Amino acid sequence: MSTDTGTDETFTYVLVGSGMTADGAARGIREIDPEGSILILGADADRPYTRPALTKKLWTDPDFTVDDNWMNTADDTGAILRPGTVADRIDPGARTVVAGGRRISYEKLLLATGGTPHRLDLPRTDRVLHFRTLADYRRLRELADRDLRVAVIGGSFIGTELAAALVQHDTRVTLIYPDQVLQSTPFPPGLARRFEQTYAEQGVTLRPESTVASGREIDGGRIELTLEGGSTIDVDAVVVGIGIAPLTSLAEDAGLDVDDGIVVDEQLRTSAEGVWAAGDVASYPDARLGRRRVEHVDHATTMGETVGRIMAGAEETYTHTPLFYSDVFEFSYEAVGEVDTSLEVIEDWIEPNARGVVFYLRDGRVRGVLLWGVQDKADDARGILAEEGPHTAADLRGRLTAD
Ligand SMILES: Cc1cc2nc3c(=O)[nH]c(=O)nc-3n(C[C@H](O)[C@H](O)[C@H](O)COP(=O)(O)OP(=O)(O)OC[C@H]3O[C@@H](n4cnc5c(N)ncnc54)[C@H](O)[C@@H]3O)c2cc1C
Repeated sequence: MSTDTGTDETFTYVLVGSGMTADGAARGIREIDPEGSILILGADADRPYTRPALTKKLWTDPDFTVDDNWMNTADDTGAILRPGTVADRIDPGARTVVAGGRRISYEKLLLATGGTPHRLDLPRTDRVLHFRTLADYRRLRELADRDLRVAVIGGSFIGTELAAALVQHDTRVTLIYPDQVLQSTPFPPGLARRFEQTYAEQGVTLRPESTVASGREIDGGRIELTLEGGSTIDVDAVVVGIGIAPLTSLAEDAGLDVDDGIVVDEQLRTSAEGVWAAGDVASYPDARLGRRRVEHVDHATTMGETVGRIMAGAEETYTHTPLFYSDVFEFSYEAVGEVDTSLEVIEDWIEPNARGVVFYLRDGRVRGVLLWGVQDKADDARGILAEEGPHTAADLRGRLTAD
């Protein structure tokens, strides 16, 4: 039970962050502990929602609305949710959090603060979005379906998904990215060319090998972007998707171990007693791939549920190797592990660059698997990641494409 004394309160569990990891954690706690009080502090003004829909389903499924996208965390778990409340400070020694002017005591604390978008030095107007939140989606939706010119900066997952979403919503899209070919870091050359070609065919103006040097507001609130090299692009709005930085400052200020994320062990414990971390913000020891930080939804929900159970007393370790998925235009794919063409690449196509599997290897061992239009093989792919190897093209081909 919580004791509300106006300025000081006590909860069994305090979860900092109200994203998908915190939602999973509240559910995980309830699997073990039906009674303990849970407080969720969320800087986001909205209650928890799923993020992947912000760049996909909310654009592509006319029957799916924002009201279908809430996670109902508080109703389902009985947690007390404080949206729009930033945790300013934690004191693991005293087991307290300061947030919204209150000093809150906890028995167990979860840091699930996720990440904040890398920002470009662009005008601060509502025509420039560093895309991450439901509020960003709402604003971009106001700008869509109006035949406006929108520059999407960044050719990775968020950028490619938003470019596809916008061009299918009556928007003139220019996609600006540094690579020679779109998505040529994760995808092998033939697939990347086909992927890029589809964007061109769908009417997206492509600006490969381009980075934005600066931007300024011009007449009527439009934005003029200047690219490295000097050329300019005049647009009505700009959306930036160039990656995130993990939000580690609460942990750092409290003296917790931080190294590209809050460092946790296999039970998701930080270096401070009574404090756990999970999701996008956590650097954890993956059972198959070594220490890493992952920014995927399957990771957020599964690690969230796991850390919730552990905080509530379960004897468990996090052994899941998460998958990533994306859907754009006619493409649908999943990936497990490291999907990076700087590794050795072995391709196994059922239909060339349309349906098949790509393996990514280091020193003869599979580190990543891309499942392109191939369903229900993620567990088999995880099994291959767990094998010692050495693997060769001959023994990998057909393993995930045989039926
Ligand atoms: C638009 C978008 C689309 C995506 N699509 C996919 C996809 O298709 N497939 C996939 O696998 N992954 C996808 N992802 C990634 C996936 O959604 C994330 O990995 C996941 O949501 C991370 O959850 P999280 O709770 O760890 O972090 P976050 O979602 O970042 O949540 C952390 C929350 O903590 C809050 N917070 C931070 N600091 C404080 C503080 N001091 N006090 C209180 N609150 C604080 C933040 O405001 C935020 O709401 C997508 C991400 C985005 C942004």
